[in-house]
Amino acid sequence: MDSVGVAAAAPDAGPGPAWQNKCPWGAPSTTSISCSLADVMSEQLAKELQLEEENAAFPEVVAAAEGPFITGENIDTSSDLMLAQMLQMEFDREYDAQLRREEKKINGDSKVSISFENYRKVHPYDSDSSEDEVDWQDTRHDPYRADKPTTTPRRGFIGKGKDITTKHDEVVCGRKNTARMENFAPEFQVGDGIGMDLKLSNQVFNALKQHAYSEERRSARLHEKKEHSTAEKAVDPKTRLLLYKMVNSGMLETITGCISTGKESVVFHAYGGNTTEDKVIPPECAIKVFKTTLNEFKNRDKYIKDDYRFKDRFSKLNPRKIIRMWAEKEMHNLTRMQNAGIPCPQVVILKKHVLVMSFIGQDQVPAPKLKDVTLSSEDMKKAYYQILNMMQQLYRECNLVHADLSEYNMLWHDGKVWLIDVSQSVEPTHPHGLEFLFRDCKNVSQFFQKGGVAEALNERELFNAVSGLNITADNEVDFQAEIEALEKMNEDHVQNHGKKLSMFSSDGDPPIYDE
Ligand code: ADP
Ligand code: MN
Repeated sequence: MDSVGVAAAAPDAGPGPAWQNKCPWGAPSTTSISCSLADVMSEQLAKELQLEEENAAFPEVVAAAEGPFITGENIDTSSDLMLAQMLQMEFDREYDAQLRREEKKINGDSKVSISFENYRKVHPYDSDSSEDEVDWQDTRHDPYRADKPTTTPRRGFIGKGKDITTKHDEVVCGRKNTARMENFAPEFQVGDGIGMDLKLSNQVFNALKQHAYSEERRSARLHEKKEHSTAEKAVDPKTRLLLYKMVNSGMLETITGCISTGKESVVFHAYGGNTTEDKVIPPECAIKVFKTTLNEFKNRDKYIKDDYRFKDRFSKLNPRKIIRMWAEKEMHNLTRMQNAGIPCPQVVILKKHVLVMSFIGQDQVPAPKLKDVTLSSEDMKKAYYQILNMMQQLYRECNLVHADLSEYNMLWHDGKVWLIDVSQSVEPTHPHGLEFLFRDCKNVSQFFQKGGVAEALNERELFNAVSGLNITADNEVDFQAEIEALEKMNEDHVQNHGKKLSMFSSDGDPPIYDE
């Protein structure tokens, strides 16, 4: 396999650069950084940790509360669980209504009133929206590129001249919302079965009872945390409000349910609303909500801190804003990819830590991850060459390294591979950019070699083919060492000269550097 030539679109690799023969900074140190970074970013590991954590913290809830919309992997709309959940929602509503009646009765006309809010099952929206008036991300440009990414006009009206109807028009709004609210229950884990003629077996009834207990405990937990974090399975009130506003403004028609809950984000599916003159809304959207549970993001500091695009801003920001920056980063990176013609979600809008993009999939069913789909050997080969090409485009045209590329973040849709999840992507000259690229290459090579693609390059060949570098080491340890030496050389150059070397270019096809 080692002898297989570099694939079609690979550049002409030039003669080995001088540093290879003699490194002016001495022997490159093989610090432990690479393995810890691998841990930090591995999607697989994240999934495992997430599972572990959930099982440890809420063993009883996970089993019962994973709704049909939660899993993403095995959507089973016929499950008893779904029926149980829909009924639970209905029960909760009735319970809350009863509570409200009692509250009213007790309070009467009294000037001092007591509130049962804390006993409610379904907690109402947080009405504090002052912070939401500042859409600071929307006006920001990709700090690296001259051309503007998709911006989001703050258009809150429809029509022209005196026929203008603003989004605040009460009658219009009221009508629309009443219709939409049905589909927009606070926890999102509702189907649309309310009002259906449901018949229950004993089994379902027991499941329902069990679910009722665990929901109660969950509700109590949610309530405790509601000011601070995005909860495990739902979203916090501020996020809910943001989502609600998107529906309210008509940009989204309905939010149908959750398609994925990860350690750092929750992804929802939504049907797109009205396309306006200045904004095309796709018929189906994915909404990625970056979790505001701060500790999840601690480990990721180094990605953004060392990304010079965000350097100046990083130190001045509070943790909440840093999380928004992840969303912002994903938006910029997706925009670059879109401009290069790489199949990926199209950005619709960014609001704080909530990124709306086009949905890859159809009829609410997300496209399967490459790890979950069984491809014919022909498609597998096709997918491989496509990915090789995309990695090259990403590197050269977008000046990016994915940095979490694996079969977990590639979707198979419409007979091709789509790249997603690029919030952690960095530029190749990031202090660890080449290490990230090497890890991406390892994942890709392994996946396709195991998948029986005989043409698949090994990780070192792939690395050279993507980067245009010509690292000749024939074993992983030496290869890694040379990569780190390159990174160090670049960092030293930045220290001494205040700008980056363009050493990552081959003589054939240098990446674009704006400096
Ligand atoms: P995470 O950081 O949680 O891994 P991802 O961006 O990978 O976030 O999204 C998690 C999952 O949500 C993906 O594996 C995919 O199944 C689904 N998903 C994300 N974005 C989209 C999209 N635009 N279209 C369809 N499914 C998506
Ligand atoms: Mn992912």
